[in-house]
Amino acid sequence: MDSLDLINPATGAVLQGVPMNGIAEADAAIARAQRAFESWRQVAPGDRARLLRRFADVVDAHAEELAQLEVRNSGHTIGNARWEAGNVRDVLEYYAAAPERLTGRQIPVAGGIDMTFHEPLGVVGIIVPWNFPMPIAGWGFAPALAAGNTVVLKPAELTPLTALRLAELALEAGLPEGVFTVLPGRGDVVGQRFVTHPAVRKVCFTGSTRVGKSIMAGCADQVKRVTLELGGKNANIVFADSDLEKAAASAPGGVFDNAGQDCCARSRLLVQDSVYDRFLSLLEPAVKAYRVEDPRLDTAEMGPLISAAHREKVASYTAEGEVAFTGTAPDGDGWWFPPTVLLAQSASDRHWREEVFGPVISVLPFHDEAEAIALANDTEYGLSGSIWTRDLGRALRVSRGVDTGNLSVNSHSSVRYWTPFGGMKQSGFGRELGPDAVLGFTDVKNVFISTES
Ligand code: NDP
Repeated sequence: MDSLDLINPATGAVLQGVPMNGIAEADAAIARAQRAFESWRQVAPGDRARLLRRFADVVDAHAEELAQLEVRNSGHTIGNARWEAGNVRDVLEYYAAAPERLTGRQIPVAGGIDMTFHEPLGVVGIIVPWNFPMPIAGWGFAPALAAGNTVVLKPAELTPLTALRLAELALEAGLPEGVFTVLPGRGDVVGQRFVTHPAVRKVCFTGSTRVGKSIMAGCADQVKRVTLELGGKNANIVFADSDLEKAAASAPGGVFDNAGQDCCARSRLLVQDSVYDRFLSLLEPAVKAYRVEDPRLDTAEMGPLISAAHREKVASYTAEGEVAFTGTAPDGDGWWFPPTVLLAQSASDRHWREEVFGPVISVLPFHDEAEAIALANDTEYGLSGSIWTRDLGRALRVSRGVDTGNLSVNSHSSVRYWTPFGGMKQSGFGRELGPDAVLGFTDVKNVFISTES
């Protein structure tokens, strides 16, 4: 079997090799998951709930180890990585409540009794990107397992280590063999096999819009269910009536967190023209103070980019733009890039339109509410965004007017595991997290029982 050397993005040093599975291994894993499904679906709801709670406890007991592993493999800051491990625990605990609450309906009919059941789908294939290896895995596998499905998961080639460890911890927690399998390999090999294998009943994909489109087309062939969580080019709209100091202090974290490698990064900064200069003068010191350093340090706010190739891609955008100011980054080994603010010349600039996926903010002024909404919506994406204002009516009008799946007012947060998360337009469809995500891993079955004698 081929193997791939993983690189620590903060140092450029080889971490370890990881086996790259092929079609034969994918088929074997899917067959095991299919066999495991026949017994997993029969596990009593209370027992399935207990196993998921135990899985959450084992993740909790290994949270620091998982976080340290993510720092080495993905270059995430230790603070972020601890949050991410905690998020997997929280999501498992949250969905552990689902098996006992997946109730159907009893519907009045003539001549009998009619009821619905939420049946698990079978084997679910989950394809995870490199930007948030732990949370995105957990958002898929926790509700899928809770609903009685089995899971095969393909981590991104660059960042498989925490997912592999989570699969070991699942076994340690008592989940039966084959219920949750992690299979590193190439996307166009293992990931593609999830699409073409008839036993995989649903594909959950998070990643680029380009690959998402091909997965959707492939799934159509077998009328296979698919959810897509794709890119974003999110607006951060700052109105003149907002708390400008608070908005300027928040804007860097809204993009530079995870080095901008975040589909929810608010990378299009729209500032009302009457406060444009003042806002930039507040933003500059906040950007310059952003701490980009060794991700193992508790003080680090941002680490390196994921790879040399990705750094080149990010640099191609900043080379084209007018740089307003930058922060600092270490200049030693590793894939470092300084936080950068670009002044957009118009809404047709490439860095304004495309998902840079790096620590880059593009700024553009707007005149009034209508123009802000029009500019925010002038994108193929529709994932996330923020609105800064003290006017409640405006906050609600703009929230309803911006076509994205998630919005925050006077905040840049996007993700709470108990509320739904997902995109509109070419950011994808289907909702992860929140109370209803588990239903996406079930089919409704209707049963009619005649009471006629
Ligand atoms: P990709 O969409 O290529 O990769 C995401 C996942 O899909 C990876 O596990 C990848 O595997 C897998 N994959 C790739 N090709 C296929 C295929 N043909 N069939 C099935 N699975 C496949 O994203 P990249 O990592 O290449 O990033 C490119 C850009 O996409 C980023 O710069 C960013 O703009 C965007 N992106 C958005 C994300 C988001 O959260 N919305 C997440 C990641 C990227 P492998 O690792 O082997 O390539």
